[in-house]
Amino acid sequence: MMNLKDFEVWFVTGSQSLYGEETLKQVAEHSQQIAKAFDSAKQIPVRIVFKPTVKSPEEIYSICQEANTVKNCIGIIAWMHTFSPAKMWIGGLKILQKPLLHLHTQFNRDIPWDSIDMDFMNLNQSAHGDREFGFIMSRMRLERKVVVGHWQDKEVLEQINTWSRAAAGWSDWQGARFVRFGDNMRYVAVTDGDKVEAELKFGYSVNTHGVGDLVKVINAISDKEIDTLTSEYEEKYAVVPSLRKGGDQYNALRDAAKIELGLTAFLQDGNYKGFTDTFEDLHGIVQLPGIASQRLMGKGYGFGGEGDWKTAALVRAMKVMGSGLKGGNAFMEDYTYHFDPNDPLVLGSHMLEICESIADGKAKCEIHPLGIGGKADPVRLVFNVAAGPALNASIVDMGNRFRLLVNEVEAIAPTHDLPKLPVARVLWKPYPDMKTGCAAWILAGGAHHTCYSQNLTAEHLQDFAEMAGIECVLIGKETNLRQLKNELKWSEVYYR
Ligand code: MN
Repeated sequence: MMNLKDFEVWFVTGSQSLYGEETLKQVAEHSQQIAKAFDSAKQIPVRIVFKPTVKSPEEIYSICQEANTVKNCIGIIAWMHTFSPAKMWIGGLKILQKPLLHLHTQFNRDIPWDSIDMDFMNLNQSAHGDREFGFIMSRMRLERKVVVGHWQDKEVLEQINTWSRAAAGWSDWQGARFVRFGDNMRYVAVTDGDKVEAELKFGYSVNTHGVGDLVKVINAISDKEIDTLTSEYEEKYAVVPSLRKGGDQYNALRDAAKIELGLTAFLQDGNYKGFTDTFEDLHGIVQLPGIASQRLMGKGYGFGGEGDWKTAALVRAMKVMGSGLKGGNAFMEDYTYHFDPNDPLVLGSHMLEICESIADGKAKCEIHPLGIGGKADPVRLVFNVAAGPALNASIVDMGNRFRLLVNEVEAIAPTHDLPKLPVARVLWKPYPDMKTGCAAWILAGGAHHTCYSQNLTAEHLQDFAEMAGIECVLIGKETNLRQLKNELKWSEVYYR
């Protein structure tokens, strides 16, 4: 969706002047070699940029200041090849606004048993140098990710991959704009929240436009543009005959295309990264945007139904984090249950708006009535979703803080045709099991709206929550309700 090579992570090595020129030269050479290896590693999606060794409070302050101001720098990897007295780091770490990964590695993998001497020991001290650095970050109560292992270790590369994807999502939120067409669905609690606090905490803004502003743009779309887009629909999807050119509902397909083109123009013109709408406020829009929202999400926009701006922003961030990975990220809702004790399942779906990025195979393009909203029948993409590991994530506003809630699930292959269900759908089993997973989600106040991800892991979202400085509650294979209840209660004190 996005080329993450546009983002840079800086590789910063800490040391001190005490060691003399010869040792520092070797430190620089080793760091350069590691940075270069990371930069060309296929597991790491961002650029890794080598920075000269920092040896004094002034140099450390200056690199942190520079990282703050360079726009495409999304974070720092810090490593103490030698000892780097950590009081030197206080000033720099105090002002650093970008995420930090503390890489606890050393240049050599093995101890050279036969040749090891005190010169070698002097040069290769990260085992204790990184402890000094770790202390100051803990003492300052700073969030960071600690990755331990030799720099050529696959797991180390994988953890850097995960963290840098989270950092890309975080960077994308800074200054991002989200637009809401209309307000929240009336009386709904969980999709509402404090937009001022969200902007302070997350860096993105959420503002509303009356739906009339969007209608004006939709109405200015030309017939020629509509012709082009409806042909694209016919090519890309299995469009039902009634919607095809010459079919008796062809005009409804044209209306849907016109809505998509209008929405696209509005989002591009306002430089928005996502949007919400609501079926309760569609004055002048003939159908609830269905295929439009599904395709705009497919192009990387965030979306939330019924005015759910927190989920729209989360969908966007998760799409950025998943860029280039197989599988997709979609707006989702826990819709209905299969309570068969031998095979309990959740059916996830929405009225219309599930992102096409998670479709298994060619989607069908259909038209059906919508029970609510009182508008013309909306055009939508209908598809199944492949089996495999996945997760649902939700951000809720707890009043004194935001909470990111993650539930790992296992999607299963469709067991039935569901011939009368006219929406995209997915079946999953929540971890650790149906009853515990659902109870845990409800106790933690998780929303009915989520972002469903096929390509991100709980670790991506935990890293992301740490960058944002918010609570992260994971419901996974290890979850037990007693512990979870305690965690929620203890967190209540921590975040007071
Ligand atoms: Mn909904």
